[in-house]
Order: sequence, then C-alpha cells, then structure tokens
Amino acid sequence: MRCKRCSSDAVLEQPSLCEKHFIPYFERKVYHTIDRFRLVKKKDKVMVACSGGKDSTVLLHLLAEKGYDVHALAIDEGIKGYRDKTLAFLRRFCFERGIALKEVSYKDALGISLDQMMKHTGRKPCNVCGVYRRHLLNKHARGFDVLTTGHNLDDEAQSIMMNLLLNNSNILPRLGPRTGVVQDSRFVPRVKPLYLMREKEVMAYSYIKGLLTEFSECPNIVDSFRAEVRDFLNTYEITHPGFKEDLVSRFISALPRLKGNAKLSPIGSCSICQEPSASAVCSACSLRKELGLRTVKI
Ligand code: SF4
Repeated sequence: MRCKRCSSDAVLEQPSLCEKHFIPYFERKVYHTIDRFRLVKKKDKVMVACSGGKDSTVLLHLLAEKGYDVHALAIDEGIKGYRDKTLAFLRRFCFERGIALKEVSYKDALGISLDQMMKHTGRKPCNVCGVYRRHLLNKHARGFDVLTTGHNLDDEAQSIMMNLLLNNSNILPRLGPRTGVVQDSRFVPRVKPLYLMREKEVMAYSYIKGLLTEFSECPNIVDSFRAEVRDFLNTYEITHPGFKEDLVSRFISALPRLKGNAKLSPIGSCSICQEPSASAVCSACSLRKELGLRTVKI
C-alpha cells in the first residue's frame, strides 16, 4: 500500500499515508477534535488520566507538546504483572518530560488491591474496578478544570454498542467527547480528545514517535462484556469497513437529542463518603459494603 500523498510505503491501509504524512494528519485531527467539541481551553489546568498504556501516553504527549498545563493522574488497581509494569513506564515518561504525576492505589484508598478483592467476590473484575476507578479519578482530579481520558474511537464504539445491547438508555446520553449530563461543581468535566482516532491510528502514532512501542493489555479484560463486544465489532468491521466510524458519527448526531431527553436525577452527597451521588449511598460505597471493605478514603 502506497501513501496517497507521495509514493512511500503507507503506515496503515486507512488512511493510506506514509510516516511523514501520517504524523501531521494525526496531530491535526486530535487538535481539531479539541476545538470542535470545545474540550480543553488554552488556560485550563488539565489532569490527564494515565495508565501507562498507549492511549493515555499519546494523549499526555500531545497535550504537553501543545503547551497545555498538564498533570498526570494514575490509578494503581493492584494488578500484578501488568499495572506495575505500565506504571514503571509512566513514571519514567513523566520524569523525563518534567510532568507532575500523582499516583493513587486501591491498596491505600480501600486497604486492598483489585487482585486481592477478586478472591472475595464472584463479580467480574472490570465491574468492580470500573466503579472505584471513576470514583478515585473524580476525587483526585478535583481542583482541575478538566479531566482528559485516552478513550479512542474503538472504545467509544464499544461503549455505544454495549449500552444499546443492554438497553441502558440512561447511560447513552452520558457518553460522547464530553461526558456526563448533570452539572455539579464536584464533578470534574471529563473529555476525550482521541474520540475520533481509531485504535490502530493511536498505536501507529505511538510507535512511530517512539512513545510506547510495546503494547500490553490488562489480563482481566478477557472476562469482560466489553471484550466480547470489541471482538464482535472487529470481526464485523472486516466485512463492513468503516462501521465503527459510522456508528460513532451517527451517535454524535443523536447526542444533543439524547442529552436533551435525559432524565436528570438531583445530585446530593453520599451519606458515607460525602462524594457527589444521585442516591443516598454512592456506587463505590455500596460496592464497598457488599465486599466488606472499609470506607473509600484518600
Ligand atoms: Fe480494571 Fe477491567 Fe480495565 Fe483491567 S480491564 S484495568 S480490571 S476496568
């Protein structure tokens, strides 16, 4: 496959661009996404949710290069053989670029790692992990104007499909490049600058720029509904090229209507941890009680 701008070898089939033309294409598209959806303002204090994986590393790099005031926040779930390695990379990455990195572990916040937690529950790891991850990210990003995450187009296509299949009509309006529906000063706005970039493109950018060249994934993902949907979408994409992009694009068109029709519950405070919650006890504290863990704290 040849580059459509010159005759060099193309990095990917779609878009068919060589390394030299792919890099500016990728960067322009991400910065354009930030402007199009008004995700980050120039003077914002920006927290980047980092895992040490390719998506958040690419995002951290692009925001730092553009001169944003970036800080990194990493949640250490305690997944042996996986998170310890990605965090070691992230610490080096931030140190070399002078980026402040804050780390919060489940062990410190909950008194137990995800690996240990899984020995005491029949729940799937991602269902437990996701609840605490969201809770801790919001708590520790407070004081920042915006929390950016490395979600890419493939992630969003999966989220849309998962919620359609589960008929989660109350969750769909919360998706999109700028998440959430309810305005509350205690919720740090979450935005996704890589929203329109396909996973393969993020991978190619990371590799060509030498940011992260070895890619790994959490061993727990295999047990998740997301992995089933991801595999289905990847297979479907082979016979229907462009399906994921079409799905996300149609979703963007429907989003204003979905947000407009969303049922808004008033936001109070969790009676246990005092964090914002639509119910008397927030999902992190409900799960904590179910698992017999101590109150979520810093
Ligand atoms: Fe947590 Fe699941 Fe993500 Fe692993 S794949 S970090 S268990 S949410």
